[in-house]
Amino acid sequence: MDGGEALIDPMQCNEAPQAGSKALDQYRSLFENAIEGIYRTTPDGSYLAANPALARIYGYDGPESLIAGLTDIAQNLYVHPEDRDRFKRALDLDSEVRNFEAQVFRKDGTVIWIAENARAVRSPCGGTVCYEGTVQDITARKLAEERLRLAATVFDNVGEAIVVIGHNDVVHAVNSAFERMTGFPAENVVGLKFNLLATEVNEPEILHEAWATAAKGAIWQGELWARRADGDVFPAAMALTGVVSEDGTVKSYVLLAHDVTRRKMDEQRIRFHASHDTLTKLANRHTVMEALGDAIVRAELGGHRLAALFLDVNRFKDVNDSFGHAAGDELLRQVARRLKGCVRASDIIGRLGGDEFVVVLPNIATTAGAIACVEKILYAFSDPFNLAERELYASTSIGIALYPDDADTAEQLLSSADAAMYHCKAGGQQYSFYDHDMNRQAVDRVNLENDLRHAIADRQFRLHYQPKLDSRTRKIVGAEALIRWNHPERGNVSPALFIPVAERAGLVGAIGDWALSEACRQMRSWRDDGLDFGCVSVNLSPAQFHDASLKDKVERALAANELETSALELEITETMMATEVDRAISILTQLGAMGVRISIDDFGTGYSSLAYLKLFPVDALKIDRAFVMELPGNAKDGAIVASIVALARNLGFDVIAEGVETAAQADFLMAKDVTLMQGYLFSPPVDANSFAELLRNGV
Ligand code: C2E
Ligand code: CA
Ligand code: CA
Repeated sequence: MDGGEALIDPMQCNEAPQAGSKALDQYRSLFENAIEGIYRTTPDGSYLAANPALARIYGYDGPESLIAGLTDIAQNLYVHPEDRDRFKRALDLDSEVRNFEAQVFRKDGTVIWIAENARAVRSPCGGTVCYEGTVQDITARKLAEERLRLAATVFDNVGEAIVVIGHNDVVHAVNSAFERMTGFPAENVVGLKFNLLATEVNEPEILHEAWATAAKGAIWQGELWARRADGDVFPAAMALTGVVSEDGTVKSYVLLAHDVTRRKMDEQRIRFHASHDTLTKLANRHTVMEALGDAIVRAELGGHRLAALFLDVNRFKDVNDSFGHAAGDELLRQVARRLKGCVRASDIIGRLGGDEFVVVLPNIATTAGAIACVEKILYAFSDPFNLAERELYASTSIGIALYPDDADTAEQLLSSADAAMYHCKAGGQQYSFYDHDMNRQAVDRVNLENDLRHAIADRQFRLHYQPKLDSRTRKIVGAEALIRWNHPERGNVSPALFIPVAERAGLVGAIGDWALSEACRQMRSWRDDGLDFGCVSVNLSPAQFHDASLKDKVERALAANELETSALELEITETMMATEVDRAISILTQLGAMGVRISIDDFGTGYSSLAYLKLFPVDALKIDRAFVMELPGNAKDGAIVASIVALARNLGFDVIAEGVETAAQADFLMAKDVTLMQGYLFSPPVDANSFAELLRNGV
């Protein structure tokens, strides 16, 4: 044959009918009634025969319209025409294909999946006469498979752990999220009895409810504790679903678990942050007030007392100003730690802000209970604090208020304790109990700042002068200028009270500048009256000391009053020198070079490094009143005084004692070679006229 092998020869292909007419009928019936589509096509793709099932599968009215309509199988039938090539290649090679799956168009254009079994019908000479085969619509199966594949992909890619549980708690399957979340490898749980839920921590009623809900074929959702391979228990958001099988019963369960440890931790952190002070991790004001309110209710019910201790770190501002905020923060953290060590777990402890702390003792019988805790706290402050670059001592003032003795509400109780703290600080005590007079003072304090703002303009300040004497001759060699505030309503307000307020309000610079020029003005006036006052010292606050224009201001005040620089002395504290040491040295060196005297006030109580002393152009050390107070009886104070004198002598400084009140103190100090003295024994601070009298007539 000349290349005609592939051509259709219906006669040759018609094998079956030759088997006889009965058989033919049987074949025809099979052909007509088969559920599978049956066809015979030419190798190049047109139908020779098709049964009704095939027409149905492909969406044609009958075999005739199918045969007429589908004339190019590759192009008209297959969604991917190359499938036809694959089909033909397989037939050419093996003469048959089994389960050849392809997507085809039905007549209406919809796409279905079919599976074909076919064979090539060969002519005796080996040429392909036609193809014949069967077609099955497998769309439903394909979709199901696709769904399964999708489900499997989801199963293995979701973030939630999935456990499929069958009869008797035996696990059918787990996904990879399960393995990641719990640390259990799949092979350790699949096929075995396994319970992801931590039965010992979950509430039995909730577990029961979850299983009961799922057993009805419903979904139970909630948070339960699950366990990990390492034994840890973790919170998980879970959904437990009962899978309803065909007979309507629930035979298996799907458990979905989402690890919420992180979220829980975040929630906790947020709650913690909202209720705690970030720096010290103590309860914040809000939380303290709530807890205090609760404690008051319990004290009321139980008929017992409670105590609120209000603490403030003395000279905290100095630490902050001198050593920087990082040092201040560290000090507060360490204070918090020590406070925690002083209280019981049931006590409330918090930071109200700044350097203010509160401790609530929720159940005390007598004031002795509060004092015991206060003593413990004071003792905890007796060791130095270790900051990054230095060791320093800090002290605290504690105000104590009791419920129900001193207040009815949490707010009142705290403000009473605050008033007591303030009172104790002003009085130089370590702690004091609230008494009712203190309330008025506390209210006053709030207004103080406002009033201070007007005080300079309204000329409410005066300077008083306290003489400094030569210990041996008892002659006045100078004076310390001390500010006095004559408030129109309050009367005299102590600088010990308002200087700290002015510092906090940023007003102390202006006040100090006023004091400096007023002292110089007064000196000029005394000079003009022919009085020899020696040298007047003016107290500097840290803000002034760090003011870049200090030197200019000093120069101007002196020049304006035609005073020689040696007429002025500046009193600074140790702590002021300890910050920005280089700058402090340069400021003091400039002032010293001008001829202005420098003395270190309250010596022995501040934060200083003795090593710095030799670097500073200092003229005098002023022994703090605290060391003078208990002389001559207190041997330790005596030793301190002797050491300061020795130190001053070795460094070439003068030494002056302040707060000398008794002759015995004066004698003791003189015996220790303290050359200068100041104190009530000789004179309190007095106004300028009275001081002029003292100069004329002696003390
Ligand atoms: P300070 O510099 O240590 O001043 C000494 C304080 O001791 C003065 O209190 C003085 O009146 C008091 N005093 C003097 N002799 C005795 C005594 O024998 N016994 C007792 N118990 N006390 C005595 P004052 O005037 O109330 O001043 C308190 C603090 O206020 C001063 O302490 C000083 O730090 C500050 N201050 C006073 N005036 C000024 C000022 O003009 N500028 C600045 N920045 N601070 C000032
Ligand atoms: Ca002073
Ligand atoms: Ca002093």
